[in-house]
Amino acid sequence: MAEKMMQFVTIGQNYPDKRTAEERKQDFNEIYARFTIEKAQEQASRCEQCGIPYCSVACPVSNNIPDWLRLVAAGRLEDAYHVSQETNSLPEICGRICPQDRLCEGLCVLEQSEHDAVTIGSIEKFITDNAFEQGWVKGPQPLRELGQSVGIIGAGPAGIAAADRLRRKGYEVHVYDRHDRVGGLLVYGIPGFKLEKDVVARRHKLLEEGGVQFHLNFEIGRDASLKDLREKHDAVMICVGVYAGRKLDVPGSDLENIFPAMYFLTASNRKSFGDKVEEFDDGTLNAEGKNVVVIGGGDTAMDCVRTSIRQGAKSVKCLYRRDRTNMPGSQNEVRNAEGEGVDFEWLSAPKSFKGLGKVQKVEAVSMHLGVADGSGRQSVKEIEGSEFELDADMVIEALGFEPEDVPTLFGEPDLAVTRWGTLDVNKKTWMTSIDGVFAAGDIERGASLVVNCINDAREASDQVHKYLRAQARAGVAAE
Ligand SMILES: Cc1cc2nc3c(=O)[nH]c(=O)nc-3n(C[C@H](O)[C@H](O)[C@H](O)COP(=O)(O)OP(=O)(O)OC[C@H]3O[C@@H](n4cnc5c(N)ncnc54)[C@H](O)[C@@H]3O)c2cc1C
Ligand code: SF4
Repeated sequence: MAEKMMQFVTIGQNYPDKRTAEERKQDFNEIYARFTIEKAQEQASRCEQCGIPYCSVACPVSNNIPDWLRLVAAGRLEDAYHVSQETNSLPEICGRICPQDRLCEGLCVLEQSEHDAVTIGSIEKFITDNAFEQGWVKGPQPLRELGQSVGIIGAGPAGIAAADRLRRKGYEVHVYDRHDRVGGLLVYGIPGFKLEKDVVARRHKLLEEGGVQFHLNFEIGRDASLKDLREKHDAVMICVGVYAGRKLDVPGSDLENIFPAMYFLTASNRKSFGDKVEEFDDGTLNAEGKNVVVIGGGDTAMDCVRTSIRQGAKSVKCLYRRDRTNMPGSQNEVRNAEGEGVDFEWLSAPKSFKGLGKVQKVEAVSMHLGVADGSGRQSVKEIEGSEFELDADMVIEALGFEPEDVPTLFGEPDLAVTRWGTLDVNKKTWMTSIDGVFAAGDIERGASLVVNCINDAREASDQVHKYLRAQARAGVAAE
């Protein structure tokens, strides 16, 4: 098998075909095609099979990347799938939306030499999509039922990963979500051009077939309290994500048509499902024919600008106070956005919003980067007298997210939070301040990445298992 590998000298890096900007702007479908088997094998064979695989070190779930690349190159696709799903509960999703340039591919030794990285994410996506088509992907099939139940609050990637892992171990798993669909930000935040929604629905179906029970349109704090759930289940895991969008506090912020990013993205994603969305249908949240200004430089801002383009905006500008190299969003996404017609105003910050009732202009000012602080991040300073104006019929604030006040929402003041409002857990046991209540995902680590949430949820689930086994042993001993 070994001779098939290390082909990077003769075989160049290839990503799957990307649809042209003109074509992809017309719909919300994913922009990358899938590798053919031959292409996946060819690209996998470029791997150098490093003794210390930095790609795996950089991958938050520690995927055994060189192993599954070797198996793909050898045509052993079913084995590759089994190795790949051992460490990752949602490989088909990570293959699509992980910022690989900052994770596995960024640390590939070929990327560090004059050769380019192995296209790891696209191969991971291929392995699992192909496995689904071949019928190799199975839902949880526990060897035995353990007779204890776990309630999971939140059906985002953290909740899904926890449900999968705990059900496989033999627990009765109930997942509660206030939305009407499973997926959290995978369905209502991230647009279809990065992640098509049937990919998430496919996972949902598999989990249901494996016995996970979903309770949708069920909000903790409204339909039940945390205490109710704790009484009903032997353990509870909180995976509710972070949803309080940061807001700008500048003159004119109260004008109409200034929206938080999640309002805009949720409405657009709902329309892609064919839902009736009043505020979109009456034009309020529809960017068509409008001058749109998006404020922010992260993944959410990139999703807003590219969604606006697809809705047929007249112009789309992205205002970010740092420069391109210092933005938190993926560089790939910036390139895609530029190709689709988005204008970036780097080193620019909003000073005020102007208009009569509705926003009409954004007054912005140019910034320059100063010296780095203790964290290494350069400070930003306004350049005096550099104010300029942009036309705006719609402004979208994509400035990041903070946790909601979970203890108050859940009617549980004893639930301890950190100074950032995230749930405070014991880092060894993943347990919150309440016995038998655990937490994972964005609500524990702060707004992050899907792959980090999956990893946390898997680790937290193993601790739930440990806790419940101890409870079961104690119960038997007491009898
Ligand atoms: C626009 C956008 C784009 C992003 N793009 C990327 C990307 O390209 N790549 C990447 O890796 N990451 C991306 N992220 C980040 C990623 O989506 C999150 O890190 C991840 O989804 C967090 O997972 P989670 O399960 O912790 O929470 P969420 O996905 O937020 O899921 C939480 C779930 O809990 C439910 N819930 C909340 N409160 C309650 C309650 N009281 N009762 C019942 N249910 C409740 C919610 O309805 C939701 O379904 C993006 C985020 C955003 C906002
Ligand atoms: S999970 Fe993400 S970081 Fe890890 S190998 Fe897959 S794409 Fe790369």
